[in-house]
Amino acid sequence: MNAENLRRKTRQANVGGILIGAPAPVVVQSMTTTNTLDVDASVAQALSMARAGALLIRLTAQGVAHAARLADIKAKLEKCGFTTPLVADIHFNPAAAFEAAKHVDKVRINPGNFFDPGRTFRKMEFTDEEYAAEIEKIKEKFIPFLELCRSHGTAIRVGVNHGSLSDRIMSRFGDGAEGMVESALEYLRICREVGFDDVVVSIKASDVPLMTQTVRLLAQRMDAEDMAFPLHLGVTEAGNALEGRIKSAVGIGSLLADGLGDTIRVSLSEAPENEMPVARLIIRHAHRLLERRAAEGKLHPAPYPKADALRKDPELRIAVEGVTDKDELRIAAAVELGAALLAGHRGPIALDTDILSEDENTELMQAIIQAAGIERFKAEIVACPGCGRTLYELPEVLDKIKDAFSHLKHLKIAVMGCIVNGPGEMAGADYGYVGAAAGNISLYRGIECVVKNIPQEEAVERLRQLIVADGNWIDK
Ligand code: SF4
Repeated sequence: MNAENLRRKTRQANVGGILIGAPAPVVVQSMTTTNTLDVDASVAQALSMARAGALLIRLTAQGVAHAARLADIKAKLEKCGFTTPLVADIHFNPAAAFEAAKHVDKVRINPGNFFDPGRTFRKMEFTDEEYAAEIEKIKEKFIPFLELCRSHGTAIRVGVNHGSLSDRIMSRFGDGAEGMVESALEYLRICREVGFDDVVVSIKASDVPLMTQTVRLLAQRMDAEDMAFPLHLGVTEAGNALEGRIKSAVGIGSLLADGLGDTIRVSLSEAPENEMPVARLIIRHAHRLLERRAAEGKLHPAPYPKADALRKDPELRIAVEGVTDKDELRIAAAVELGAALLAGHRGPIALDTDILSEDENTELMQAIIQAAGIERFKAEIVACPGCGRTLYELPEVLDKIKDAFSHLKHLKIAVMGCIVNGPGEMAGADYGYVGAAAGNISLYRGIECVVKNIPQEEAVERLRQLIVADGNWIDK
């Protein structure tokens, strides 16, 4: 049986003529980093992404003016012969969602900030009646939006991020998997109630174990409530280079290898064109693993005994047949070994290879173990992929931050492109480097902004001084 027939059955969503959901193949998508108001730059980048294999292209639309420009971008792309469906990415601004719905093929809304205001970590108390009244208020705004989408043939994505759960949800259901799943289900139930079917759902987090556990829980809950909406998968703020690729392969790959996931985005803090080859490799090797498991009669995660800190499993050693390219080998190994670690393997892992040097192999094993949340070998540096809101040269800065701080393996440092979403999305980071204004940075200790609006040129050194002053510095 091939992988497409082994995937979770869904009600397919039609996004500009592309069907999302099994048995249609998994759709690779990406997002521009240009300013959406800059139509020519956005068109040029979208063309380049489409040529690299992006089947859906998402653009941020922070306001109504940005959303209106999506019409021009779509028209120019069509003039160039490209009909790749476009997706608007909306946060905090329902008016922009209403405008975008008229122009693009899909609108992503974030239940954490579509109706609810941005979170402030305020504890809210609700009786059951008061909570039900909140859901009615969501319906008042969301149902007209769905009706507008229906009239324009526009699909939606209900896109939850761990870092932007609302105070309402966190107060009622907590800041973990339960809260994330309920945040999505509240909106999905409304879609079902009004018979709106062109819906894709995602739940993302930068923490790979949390992201995978939560997506599994969401799939179970949807099945229990007879909602077969297709799943979009991604690890947010995965960063760049080896770490970004391995985190994505472990998180997205382990879910695809269980038959979950209908469209994916590999979020790298690099040129968006770099994401598509990685995404295709993850799908290829995860689906090979899915088919192999089916042939062996082990369709679900490897039945390791219950995780126990003291338990030591025997070494899990794999070889990947027929792969001669280093990058592909890394992805294939990360999918299979990462899936085993996330399923509870608690022993050494190893890859038999003549292609990677010993040092490269060790670096890869460490990246897989760290991505699976078992042990840290470097600082955990999370970085957003950048988008039209990014306020500085994120890829360059990320490299500088990795050079300066990677040896601080006891720390988690977030590198975020903008002040609008950045502080909310860097859940659990010890320090944050956040774009505050064009070329200017604010520094955070946890969720507290401690250095405001300084020039980018000074910011890495000021972050080092802050870490030293806090007693958290260790020399390399
Ligand atoms: Fe864009 Fe990064 Fe801001 Fe998210 S945090 S909106 S990806 S710049």
